[in-house]
Amino acid sequence: MYISGGCHCGAITFIGEADPKRVAICHCTDCQKMSGGPYRSIVQVAESELTFQSGEPKIYPKIGDSGNPRELGFCESCGAHIYATSPRSSDTAERWLGIRTGLLDQVADLPPQAQVWFDSAVPWAQNIADLPRKSGQ
Ligand SMILES: [Zn+2]
Ligand SMILES: [Zn+2]
Repeated sequence: MYISGGCHCGAITFIGEADPKRVAICHCTDCQKMSGGPYRSIVQVAESELTFQSGEPKIYPKIGDSGNPRELGFCESCGAHIYATSPRSSDTAERWLGIRTGLLDQVADLPPQAQVWFDSAVPWAQNIADLPRKSGQ
C-alpha cells in the first residue's frame, strides 16, 4: 500500500510502498531507550520502495540487541527517528528499512501483525485497554 510520512519538524518527508503484513511491535531495549516508550511499532519497507522527497536522515550507528551493527536514521533538526536498517554492505542485497509507523499518515491503517524481541517486553504494556480514558490530557 502507498505510504507517506515525515518527521515532526517537516524537514524530512518521504513516500513509498509498504506491505501491511510487515508491521510489528518491537520490544527490544534499543526501541525502549531510543523512543522513550515501552515499545515501538515498525513497518519493514524495501529501500528501493522508499523515496525521500525532502531532507536526508542523519545516521547513528549502533549495535542492536541482535549483536549486529545497525544504522538508525533520524532527523537532526527535531530528533524524530525515521528508520533502522543494516549497514550497507558490498553485496547488492536489498536493505529493509524499519520505518517507525508513527511517522506515517496511514498509521491507523497499519495495525501490527506480530511482536518481536518479546523477552524484553514491559509487562504492563500488554494491558492498557482497560485504563481510564480522557479525550485530552
Ligand atoms: Zn525533523
Ligand atoms: Zn526494536
